[in-house]
Formats: sequence, structure tokens, C-alpha cells
Amino acid sequence: MVRHMQFPSNKYLIRHLITTAPRHSYHSATYYERPGAETMDQKGYISCDFVVDIDADHIPTNCRQNHDYAICKACGAFFQGEKPLKCSKCDGTKFDKISWICDECLEVSKKQVFNLIENFLLSDFSIPIEDINLYFSGHRGYHVHLKTKAFLDLDQDARREISDYVTGEGFSFKIWDYKMIQNNMMGFSIDDPGWAGKIAKELYNILVLGEPRIKEVFENPIYGKKLSTSLINIIISNRQYLIKQISDKRKIWQVAGIGEKTWIRIFEILRDRIKADIDVVVSIDLHRLIRLEGTLHGKTGFKVMKIKYDNLKDFDPLKDALSFPDDQDNTLDIEISAPISPKIRIGDTNYGPYNLGEKLKLPLNAALFLLCKEVAQIKPPS
Ligand SMILES: [Zn+2]
Ligand SMILES: [Zn+2]
Repeated sequence: MVRHMQFPSNKYLIRHLITTAPRHSYHSATYYERPGAETMDQKGYISCDFVVDIDADHIPTNCRQNHDYAICKACGAFFQGEKPLKCSKCDGTKFDKISWICDECLEVSKKQVFNLIENFLLSDFSIPIEDINLYFSGHRGYHVHLKTKAFLDLDQDARREISDYVTGEGFSFKIWDYKMIQNNMMGFSIDDPGWAGKIAKELYNILVLGEPRIKEVFENPIYGKKLSTSLINIIISNRQYLIKQISDKRKIWQVAGIGEKTWIRIFEILRDRIKADIDVVVSIDLHRLIRLEGTLHGKTGFKVMKIKYDNLKDFDPLKDALSFPDDQDNTLDIEISAPISPKIRIGDTNYGPYNLGEKLKLPLNAALFLLCKEVAQIKPPS
């Protein structure tokens, strides 16, 4: 990677990009007095955007099992889904990984962007919407840049505090008044600010949807251990009581058979549904490189692009971030070079799945995607 570059204007930057055509392009999220200096010490740190990275890679999705796979580098064994720790055939630990994208994982990361902006940045932090800059990463996620002065000057510890708040990390119920008073479990009120109110609201929303919803949430938590069937049945039989307590804004949530430990597990399951699933490492880094707007992502050929928040709902990365006009006659001849090229939608057309050795003539955007994903090679027409 070539780093420490500085350009007097966009014109010079664009000229450099044209002559070198890098596969990936980044810029620093940090402002320096001398950005071109060779070492960090010499650069003269001024401030840094608060950057939030939301990527389907960090969020568990079911589709991964369908479209990702790994191949053992030693023996060539094929593993569908997440790569295993160890090859079951030869004990090898090195794999070539193919990670794909589909409508489901792109939708999951979009949902998390709405969650972050609506439920945290706008409501809890009161950040003006015009200070929130939103970008499609060109792959399976989004970057949110906060340029509010108060955020620019934050040090690393402060950035970690904010990231922990957004992800519900270091979750302490004590500070939100969770306690047992004379054997009565004290919950939260829907009116409570911040996390306490969010937890009460989320529990209420689940309870009012009835037994199937309660089972779905507590039998299949996003992270960690599920609740036992007997505990879930206790929640179901006390459903009306809890709904009434929460809607009456009463904080006594005493249910026989649910002790302090179980309540904490319930809160953790709720927290994981409420939190914004951000990549914390990115947000606390004061020297982060971020993809350059307008360049292509080297793993997809899609554009890194700024999106107006109002347009996010209708934004379709597999259509709106394509680099070339959707011209079915502008094609490229390629040959599949991986065991499987999973199905991908480009624009309005589905391509694949394809198998090793298949020779194809595909429209440029689709061919480019497969080349960038390294499941195909350019094949001169015979
Ligand atoms: Zn192997
Ligand atoms: Zn997917």
C-alpha cells in the first residue's frame, strides 16, 4: 500500500488515480497540518472525523451459509458457509475464502444504518442531520462520517465511550436503577431516557406481539445462549401482567420464577436487538483510512458513493452503485476459475450460480463483479 500522499487539489489527485489506477483507494479521516509527512509524529494531528463503519461482515446473517464458502489451501476440500477453524480432511488451517453479497445481507446493513441514525445519532445525541454524511462502501456496508465540531475534537477514550454506548457494551443494569427491592424486581420505564427506556420499549413491543414472537426472540437470540423453554413459558404466562406494568409506566416487574440472573440474560438479548451493530475498532481509531468517495471498490467494482439520508430507503446498491451504464450489449468474455460462482443480482438480472470452467459473455458490470470477486478470469473470445 502506498501511503502518506498529499495533493494540492482534486485535479492532482484525479490525475494520480488515472495514471496509477489503484484497485483500492482510501483517504485519511484525520486532518493533519502536513498530511504528506512520512511519519505520524511529523504530520501534526489537528482533528479527526468520527467515522462509523457498518458492514454485513460483522453482523450474523443466515444468507452467509448459502453464499459464502472456503477452500482448504492444502488439500482443496470445500466448506460451505463460514470457514472452519481446521480442515476436517487434512487438519490444514489456511483457506481461500469467498465471501459473497446478496439482497439479504445488504438489507441487514442498511437496517443497521437506520437504527444508528434514528435511534442513536438523531435521538440520543441530537446531531443535526446535515452533519451526518452517509456513504455506501462499495461492498456490503455503509460509512457514516460525523463532522460536528464536538465530535472532531474527541480523543480515543471519548470515542470508545460513544461506541460502547451505541453497542450497549459494558452493559450495567445497576446504573439504570435495575435492582431488587424487597424481592421485587425493579425494571425500567418506557419514558426513561437512553438505554433504560429502549429496553422497556423493546420488551413491550415483543410482548404485545404474543407467544410466537416471544418464542422467536428468546429461542433464537442474535448472540449467545437462548432462554430455556420453561423460562420462556413463564414469560408467556406473565405476558399480560408485564404489558400492563410497562404501559402503566410501573417499574415493578416481579415475576415468580425469573430471578436476577435471568433478567440480566433477558436484557442482554434485548440489548443485542436494539444496539447498532457497528465496527467499534473503526470509530475509535484516530488515524483511520476510509474508502475514497467516487472510486471503485476492488472487491466488487461498485462505486463508493455518497447517499442522501432521504434516499437511503430506496437505495439499491446492486443497481445504483454500478460503475458502468447498464448496457446489455457491452459485454466481456470471462471464464469461471473458482469451484462455484454463487448467484448475484446485477441491476434487474440474476447471474449464476456458475461452475468451474464455464465460459460466459456477460454485461460489463456483472463480469467486473465476478472478476473483482476473483471467481473468474478474462477470456479472449475464441
Ligand atoms: Zn484440507
Ligand atoms: Zn447475503
